[in-house]
Amino acid sequence: MQMFRLQRNVYLDNNATTPISARVRKKMASVLKNHYGNPSSQYQLGRDSAEIIEQARAQVATAIGASAEQILFTGSATEANNQVIRALCQQAPADRRKIISSPIEHSSILRALDHAETQGFEIVRLPVDRHGRVDMQALQRHLDDNTLLVCCMLANNETGILQDIAEISRHAHRHGAYLLADCVQALAKIPIDVTSLGVDYATFSAHKIHGPKGVGALYWAKGTPMAPLIHGGHQENGLRGGTECVHNIAGFGEACADVPAAIDAMAAVRSLRNSLRDKLMAHAPGMIEHSHDTLGLPNTLSVTFPGQQNSTMLAALDLGGVSVSAGSACNAGGSQPSHVLKAIGLSDEDAHATLRISLSGSTTAKDIDYALGVFAEMLRGNTPHVQIVKPAHVDRDFLYNPEHYILDIRFGYERSLLKSMPRAHEAAFLSFKRYLHHIPRDKTIVIVCMGGIDAMALAYRLHEKGFRKLAVVLGGLAAWRLAQPELYKSCAGMDITQLSPQ
Ligand code: PLP
Repeated sequence: MQMFRLQRNVYLDNNATTPISARVRKKMASVLKNHYGNPSSQYQLGRDSAEIIEQARAQVATAIGASAEQILFTGSATEANNQVIRALCQQAPADRRKIISSPIEHSSILRALDHAETQGFEIVRLPVDRHGRVDMQALQRHLDDNTLLVCCMLANNETGILQDIAEISRHAHRHGAYLLADCVQALAKIPIDVTSLGVDYATFSAHKIHGPKGVGALYWAKGTPMAPLIHGGHQENGLRGGTECVHNIAGFGEACADVPAAIDAMAAVRSLRNSLRDKLMAHAPGMIEHSHDTLGLPNTLSVTFPGQQNSTMLAALDLGGVSVSAGSACNAGGSQPSHVLKAIGLSDEDAHATLRISLSGSTTAKDIDYALGVFAEMLRGNTPHVQIVKPAHVDRDFLYNPEHYILDIRFGYERSLLKSMPRAHEAAFLSFKRYLHHIPRDKTIVIVCMGGIDAMALAYRLHEKGFRKLAVVLGGLAAWRLAQPELYKSCAGMDITQLSPQ
């Protein structure tokens, strides 16, 4: 029986990225065709490109209530967040060595702060309430005249929960500390005015608002410290070396011109989101919501289906053409439960049973109806049969069972992090069709990846190709290493076969 008959693709992962709008595509195509001049060149073709950049800068500034000279274009919001933290740390006075952050920040803030910690800065990670809002009393307790910076995102990428940035800014400024607000997820979903928010630095990313990937923007208030992260030419007033990606910047500007209309469309998005939530609840009465109708973004639904595995849910929905995520896209490869869900008090089990569903202005009622149908099949357990093996059960007998064919589909860099199970066959997940001829049909195919999610997706694809004896190790290699440390030490990485693609 065909369990999921793919009828359409429904994209419900708009917090990961958004499709480029027709308006942005048109603008970018025109820039690519007509404005190939280097913006630094001293003739008309170059000056035209420079003008395109300045128009885009004004468009971004208008969308957030800033003036154009306060906008710096970067290659991503990740870069922008790193640039602020690095610049402030480099210029910090000797008596300001403390940085206060929320624990639910994006990895580009968290990892940059980890780095600052290695440079001698004290990092304070504040508690949050059950919704994920920063504990204001803890903030006030930790803030003092040694505090250099407070980092707090405006909207969380996993749950959509909003922070009271204006109040955080008042507390920070009372002690002379700067405030960096990552506004990536909030732009084009709620109105943003950097002046009334009182932020010193704010960061944005084009691809979250129907613009292109690979371009971010950094707002910085007048008089605040700034320094280049990338040294080179004099581009971006000497604050980011490297020839500007003119078509991306133009696309970002054009996407920003659509911000008021996008915000107007959010009332309809909210009502679609709420109808999806209510209907899902009818199918899964135990479902728990972590997003919030009034405290969060209108487009984001974060829900736990107790007892389910997000790897199985993602694979089943993917097979049905519905794209959602288990957490943020940046953490998707790992086996660790989401740090955001853990910070708001979820157990590991519940965090691993949680999905993020994020809509956009282009999501339709038909999309929601179709997705609900696929969800309903999935919740009824009408999914391909794949055996889920607990890592504690992957012992020596299991590994050396001649009936088991272990298939390791990790990505290249993941292979450098952990050794594989003994007797594993290594193949590339993304081009798995080119490895099919190697995979035996008479054995149980035990698929392993880093965290368990990709393995389940491949298991469902192999099921489609007629394979019936399929198994996936729950939590992937990372969980196996934790569950079987002695076995990992004695035999991981032995007798590995690298399969060659056809
Ligand atoms: N901050 C938040 C809250 C995000 O959701 C993201 C993207 O997922 C980023 C920063 C990084 O943006 P970029 O993809 O431009 O590096």
